[in-house]
Amino acid sequence: MTPVVVAVDGPAGAGKSTVSRRLAEALGYRYIDTGAMYRVIGVLAVERGIAFSDSMQLASLCDATRIDFVERPNGLRTCADGRDLSEAIRTVDAAQLASKVSAVPEVRERLVAQQRAMAAAGGVVMEGRDIGTVVCPDAAVKIFLDAAVAERARRRAGDVRRQPTAEDVARIEQEIAERDARDRTRAHSPLRPATDAVIVDTTDKTIDEVVDLLRALVARRTAALASHT
Ligand code: C5P
Repeated sequence: MTPVVVAVDGPAGAGKSTVSRRLAEALGYRYIDTGAMYRVIGVLAVERGIAFSDSMQLASLCDATRIDFVERPNGLRTCADGRDLSEAIRTVDAAQLASKVSAVPEVRERLVAQQRAMAAAGGVVMEGRDIGTVVCPDAAVKIFLDAAVAERARRRAGDVRRQPTAEDVARIEQEIAERDARDRTRAHSPLRPATDAVIVDTTDKTIDEVVDLLRALVARRTAALASHT
């Protein structure tokens, strides 16, 4: 079967990262986390004192930074010019910085170009907010994962702490609701399902159930494509 592009979009905490990573592994595809790229630019901008209103400096930062996903014994790492930023980009602050920097059109243009180059040869599961709508509008498979905000907050809180308190969950619910609102209402590439995306509500589903469902979708689609050639 020809390796295709699988686009996975959706709001924070819908299960995109875990499911996309597992799906890529099962298919023998590359997994690309585009949110990590916006997080890197947000973190580096603050480190270098670049204001988020300075779109030219942000564009230069994108042009000058090489972002790589590198497989290491301790897992898949996100590196900027060889520097491992995997931990630095996983904080709540980094998520908010990514959301702010990702609303700057000059940043999106640059990162989208890099993402398209990564997907050009196919054989990728690419996860983000605009993969099916903007980055890879011709992706063979488009999935939009969603879940109730309370469930998404509970999952994210579980990532941060083994036994999260009710306050942890409430704080994270507020954080992701704020970030979703910004992502959904921004002028440039807002978060929304592509018209031809399959929408999967993961609220009451286990990770295994979602991965199985997506594997079946990919298998059906690649078989259909093969029968047309
Ligand atoms: O997926 P993740 O939570 O790491 O994304 C962080 C932020 O980066 C999102 O809230 C969103 O603002 C932005 N993002 C984006 N487009 C993408 C991926 C992420 O705007 N393709």
